[in-house]
Amino acid sequence: MKEIYDLIIVGGGPAGLTAGIYASRARLKTLLLDKGVTGGQITLSERIENYPGFPQGISGLDLAQKMEEQAKRFGLEIKNLTEVTGLELEDDFKKILSAQGNFLSQAVIIATGTNPAKLEISGEDRLTGRGVSYCATCDGAFFKDKRVIVVGGGDSAISEALFLTKFASEVLVVHRRDELRATKILQEEAFANPKVKFIWNSHLIEIKGESKVEKGVIKNKLTNEIIEEPIDGVFIYVGNIPNTRWLGDTLELDEEGYILTNQDLETSVKGVFAAGDVRHSQLKQVAVAVGEGALASIMAERYLERKRRKTYRQ
Ligand code: NAP
Repeated sequence: MKEIYDLIIVGGGPAGLTAGIYASRARLKTLLLDKGVTGGQITLSERIENYPGFPQGISGLDLAQKMEEQAKRFGLEIKNLTEVTGLELEDDFKKILSAQGNFLSQAVIIATGTNPAKLEISGEDRLTGRGVSYCATCDGAFFKDKRVIVVGGGDSAISEALFLTKFASEVLVVHRRDELRATKILQEEAFANPKVKFIWNSHLIEIKGESKVEKGVIKNKLTNEIIEEPIDGVFIYVGNIPNTRWLGDTLELDEEGYILTNQDLETSVKGVFAAGDVRHSQLKQVAVAVGEGALASIMAERYLERKRRKTYRQ
């Protein structure tokens, strides 16, 4: 462990990359760590239509690449394939642990986002990669002229169901209620698309198949009727789980594991900030994550400035 950074950003999605742009421009010695390739969950989105500046929409991957290019232009140091496993507080410094080595910093921004939640039903794990997927953008093209199920009624489920109609012959949306949570414009598109069929008030309770997905077992929760639909793919969009396990009990989290912050995005530990989807908040959107990344970076800069002044006075 040779260097001490001013700021380490954990997570390279829109929040982390925006924090990186601001911190690099503020000439903070900044390192961004990402467990995979930079971009986060937006890289799984085929099209983002509500991020300003792209009137025709933009693919999540393209947007992430542009953000990364912009951050690197200002000198942000990025280490990919570095999975962070712990945060330790050492006197005045924060130690970030990873299998690739440990890193010391004066301030930290956590922007580790979320991972897709699982349904936890029979056949789900066994058939993942064999017809069960959490990413239509990655796997949709394998389902040309096939029937698929999408589970969920939120923005992810409905936008990805619409994307799947480019390939699939029929998309059955299985939703546990009789109305969607997704934004109205997506609902209108889905209701108008003849390839999208809705199975309301129902749960997918089992995925059947020997070596690949063959049938979805669906239970109507009002009538208890059970039907088996012959299908080739199941795409699951039933919410998300925050990537905060690695934090242990170092920071205060809400009951679902999201990081609690004040309005300046300070966590329960001085000098540690959180931004983006990983934070307890009302709205998870790229535009929000970008705003929070900027704010967290500015607040980290002010924290470092206060710390420097204090050291100088002592
Ligand atoms: P979400 O909004 O939490 O929706 C999850 C959906 O899964 C809900 O319809 C929920 O049903 C259903 N669900 C949850 N647990 C379930 C279970 N055990 N069994 C069956 N169904 C279950 O998650 P999301 O769609 O991934 O969106 C996450 C955030 O990202 C949201 O803030 C969303 O607005 C944002 N996002 C935005 C866009 C966009 O703007 N284009 C695209 C993607 C995501 P209920 O409705 O009954 O609760």
